[in-house]
Amino acid sequence: MKLERGVFAPAAVDVDRVRADFPILAERVNGRPLVYLDNGATTQKPRVVIDALASYYEHDNANVHRGVHTLSRRATDAYDAARVTVQRFVNAASPDEIVFVRGTTEAINLVAFSHARPRLVPGDEIVVTAMEHHSNIVPWQLTCEATGAKLVVIPIDDTGALRMDRAEELIGPRTRVVAVTHVSNALGSIVPVARIVELAHRHGAVVLVDGAQAVSHVAVDVQALGCDFYAFSGHKIFGPTGIGVLWGRAPLLAAMPPWQGGGDMIRTVAFEKTTYADPPFRFEAGTPDIAGAIGLAVALDYVAGIGLDAIAAHEEHLLADATQRLLAIPGLTIVGTAVDKASIVSFTVDGIHPHDIGTVLDQEGVAIRAGHHCAMPVMKRFGISGTARASFALYNSRADVDALAAGIESARRLFA
Ligand code: PLP
Repeated sequence: MKLERGVFAPAAVDVDRVRADFPILAERVNGRPLVYLDNGATTQKPRVVIDALASYYEHDNANVHRGVHTLSRRATDAYDAARVTVQRFVNAASPDEIVFVRGTTEAINLVAFSHARPRLVPGDEIVVTAMEHHSNIVPWQLTCEATGAKLVVIPIDDTGALRMDRAEELIGPRTRVVAVTHVSNALGSIVPVARIVELAHRHGAVVLVDGAQAVSHVAVDVQALGCDFYAFSGHKIFGPTGIGVLWGRAPLLAAMPPWQGGGDMIRTVAFEKTTYADPPFRFEAGTPDIAGAIGLAVALDYVAGIGLDAIAAHEEHLLADATQRLLAIPGLTIVGTAVDKASIVSFTVDGIHPHDIGTVLDQEGVAIRAGHHCAMPVMKRFGISGTARASFALYNSRADVDALAAGIESARRLFA
């Protein structure tokens, strides 16, 4: 998409108003105003989320599902309400399909451990893509080691787009699980999940979608996507760290054994035999991150209030503007140029190590990521050890893109 700089006026998101909601954006870093472009790693938190966490601990703190006293009821009501908020946000059929976990990593491990391990046998195949984050690779490798199943990888092309022609060949009658990212954290590529689901379901395989990089950028409707499991982390969608979500279809969750034992996941306990609670509680052993769930629900309401369509439109402009600005810098190569792409720009600059780019930018108050982004196979695919990565969120502006470009020019003057 080619965008004239003069027409950069996305009315969709009032950036100044949004920025005022995020206290940390008023910070100065190394004497400069903070320009936060590391949203792929974690997002900043709006005041409403910070206040909700403080308010919970100041007024309502108690354990959930255990006490008859007033605070325990309040905490339980708020925790249960958070589950309903998540259900609506992803359009799940029932709040019972929402399992609170620590984050995307734990959600994927839960499915690998509790859905895949008991079912898979030698000869079965688990299909992933070449652009997965390590957390959607390693749990499946462990599953393969434990079951004798084989890991199959769908390659990507030179733009970082998934090779759908190869997906059609590689997803077949031996496939039991297809685990794909929705948006690549290293490249920004968007995976055509609905088409993957169609292929997988044709062969009776289940599909897990890693939504860590998607939920804050595109509206997610799990029923429309048609997948079987969807995982995401609260901290990547303006919520607290330590809380995340696994959505799973009710019949699949109901057929899964527990993966951790403890309080709250049981129906009855006796030394002779213990019986387990229904999902989602079966998968939530022990005291959960109550404040985290409450904070996450407030974050999701905040995002819904602005509207994901407006956010997506705003970020599309930012991506186009950043792409145009960065490509004008001599020696800069963008890694990940798929047509269907979210607001992530990974790049290298001739003669400058990505870490040096990151360090120079930090001196100018600009926070970006440098390295392999927990996606070593992606780096190998492109024959590089790492990239610098700017990842945008709803509070980023054209001024942030200017600061990024200026910082890269500073790095070039120093190193190139
Ligand atoms: N999947 C993707 C695509 C990611 O980008 C990340 C984190 O960067 C994860 C999974 C892991 O998320 P978490 O560390 O919150 O579990």
